[in-house]
Amino acid sequence: MNTAPHSYLTHLECTECGRTFDAGQLQTFCPDCRSPLMARYDLARLRAEASREQFAARPRGMWRWAELLPVRDPQFRLTLGEGDCPLLPLPRLGAELGMPRLFVKDEALNPTGSFKARGLCAAVARALELGVREFVIPTAGNAGGALAAYAGRAGVPAHIYMPADTPRANQVEVQAAGADLHLVDGLINDAAREAAAGAAAHGWFDVSTFKEPYRCEGKKTMGLELAESFGWRLPDVILYPTGGGTGLVGMWKAFAELEALGWIGPERPRMVSVQAEGCAPIVRAFRQGSPRAEFWQDAHTLASGLRVPGVFADRQVLRALRESGGAALAVSDEEITAAQRELAAGEGIFAAPEGAATLAALRHLRENDWIAADETVVLFNTGSGLKYI
Ligand SMILES: *Cc1c(COP(=O)(O)O)cnc(C)c1O
Ligand SMILES: [Zn+2]
Repeated sequence: MNTAPHSYLTHLECTECGRTFDAGQLQTFCPDCRSPLMARYDLARLRAEASREQFAARPRGMWRWAELLPVRDPQFRLTLGEGDCPLLPLPRLGAELGMPRLFVKDEALNPTGSFKARGLCAAVARALELGVREFVIPTAGNAGGALAAYAGRAGVPAHIYMPADTPRANQVEVQAAGADLHLVDGLINDAAREAAAGAAAHGWFDVSTFKEPYRCEGKKTMGLELAESFGWRLPDVILYPTGGGTGLVGMWKAFAELEALGWIGPERPRMVSVQAEGCAPIVRAFRQGSPRAEFWQDAHTLASGLRVPGVFADRQVLRALRESGGAALAVSDEEITAAQRELAAGEGIFAAPEGAATLAALRHLRENDWIAADETVVLFNTGSGLKYI
């Protein structure tokens, strides 16, 4: 029998008040507490019906985790080849740092050159299944490129609002995909205001991160892949360049689901949020012991994906950091540029500045021994350096 795997999606749940929502309807976020909704799956049944080994035998890509993704009808599982990016050892940088178990998950190999492809692929696919025919997004850059590509793939229109000083590659890729590009005087929060106005006026569906439930599900697959790559164990430390925190929250959710399935144990990596000194709302809140991150004034950094001054899922990001025994730290643009050169010249990986920031942060965490030399550490390179030239 050759049937496509089916989704075990059951319902949506507010991360703060626990209110549940019908996953068969188009949903946004919890209207009571303005918090993200999380997709829930019948994990007990999946545990009884599937084994972790069967996923390895499937064709490569994000959709091999279909049981743990929200799209019910396989014909809506659109793809441009996202997911299953390599987990590469960093032998030369590792030797220099005295760290024999240092890795990078190289998300630059995704369609549109960043891991935004995973999230937008899942969100667009599920929204199409639920009847959406026109999309809108505010973006710091790469999310707009990814939405434009997946909307183009599906043959539906998309409206992209991005700061006027976003890297040129992000603007060109949006226009090349035939999407409607709006350059905004301001930052992503200003773009979000204009995008929301467009959505309200025209009925477009807003796929801002965490303002719909499924971008997080796409990015969750990074956590599934990591567990599988390490033989169903997890690394000791994950360093993640944090803007809206989608991937960090998504991976944290993936680990909980894997444990509920009995595919991993209770051990968790220490999760580290890396931000830029010019925009570090999560770092500040983490240091202050605050459950919420305040808006960061005058945000500036060359790592445009980290230029997210207001974090909608701040509570979820901070909770994951704290539950994991993790950390949060900011690095300077000078350190980011130097780390970018080291990754390219030392390992052949031309990383996005956001990804390079994790190497800069690693140096600090090794210097003060927060990370031990023999620990297994994964850096996330979230995009390609080519998108910033
Ligand atoms: C969007 C983006 C980030 C931040 O991602 P979140 O999951 O929203 O925190 C990091 N790096 C790059 C290259 C990005 O495009
Ligand atoms: Zn709620």
